Amino acid sequence: MTTTHKAHCLVLLYPLQGHINPMLQFSKRLQSKRVEVTIATTKSFLKEMKELPNSVSIEAISDGYDDGGIDQAKTFEAYFIRFKEVGSDTLSQLIQKLANSGCPVIDWMSKIYPIKTIGPTIPSMYLDKRLHDDKEYGLSMFKPMTNECLNWLNHQPINSVLYVSFGSLAKLESEQMEELAWGLKNSNKSFLWVVRSSEESKLPNNFLEELTSEKGLVVSWCPQLQVLEHESIGCFLTQCGWNSTLEAISLGVPMVEMPQWSDQPTNAKLVKDVWEIGVRAKQDEKGIVRRGVIEECIKLVMEEDKGKLIRENAKKWKEIARNVVDEGGSSDKNIEEFVSKLVTISQVIKNHKK
Ligand code: UDP
Repeated sequence: MTTTHKAHCLVLLYPLQGHINPMLQFSKRLQSKRVEVTIATTKSFLKEMKELPNSVSIEAISDGYDDGGIDQAKTFEAYFIRFKEVGSDTLSQLIQKLANSGCPVIDWMSKIYPIKTIGPTIPSMYLDKRLHDDKEYGLSMFKPMTNECLNWLNHQPINSVLYVSFGSLAKLESEQMEELAWGLKNSNKSFLWVVRSSEESKLPNNFLEELTSEKGLVVSWCPQLQVLEHESIGCFLTQCGWNSTLEAISLGVPMVEMPQWSDQPTNAKLVKDVWEIGVRAKQDEKGIVRRGVIEECIKLVMEEDKGKLIRENAKKWKEIARNVVDEGGSSDKNIEEFVSKLVTISQVIKNHKK
């Protein structure tokens, strides 16, 4: 720890894109308050990274599957058992290494500090703009097709484009993919659709070949923050992953929800019923959202009078999101309190050693 730093924090990242983004953003906020941060995540995950942040130092621990991570394990269960065992071991070694190098990290956060809420954890330049270098998350599992997306969006009218993505993990059934494809086409809206390479074979025959560039663009990964911020975007059809939800709120984009699993149905409920910034595209008895429902929801959010309140609320929440992370907002205050507690404990430890 250098003399300019007040304390040293080790941040353990669970190796999934959706977990890494908010933890990285929290780390950057801590750094801006002069806390040194070391990030730890698995070797297998780091190997797969297409982009790595240069603003924080990164250390690797092992999940016991250094060559292939979760794909190398036979089952999820086997992965977690080994991760717990080998991960705990290599994490202890890392903590020891940091202590030996004169940069000890402080005891497990939840022991010393009760849970506080922070966020939205999206890069500062999309919200309060106080951290000038913080324009992107900086760590990505996929390579975004940035130029293709932005060039295409630059030619679209304001609020005219529907952005569609199901995040980094969700796998749609082929039947659902087909319904979605026709729902998008029938809506008569231009769309930018992220179909990860592993999902592409589920697109209906000839869909890509017949898609004209006025109608839509399909990419394997996009710079989602830049897309959501773009003035041409009028709506986000999303799986309601927590990051995507926070990003849409922070950039004022109303949503059509197609939650798939995990926390997504809960997030979708908040979006629709509490914040009132989206509509839910309902599944039929087979669990499939049909093309007609998708088309209706898109039109409601993007053009109908019934969707006006949703569009207005989205603008309102954008403002609220910026205020809470800005100086003196609730997120900023909670991070300040966390840092001052860290500094106090760091001081106590130093004095004890003397
Ligand atoms: N994302 C992106 N480009 C894409 C699709 C997604 O950068 O083409 C990012 C998105 O901005 C978000 C993350 O991937 O930060 C997905 O996280 P989320 O919690 O929404 O879903 P998960 O992938 O965990 O299901």
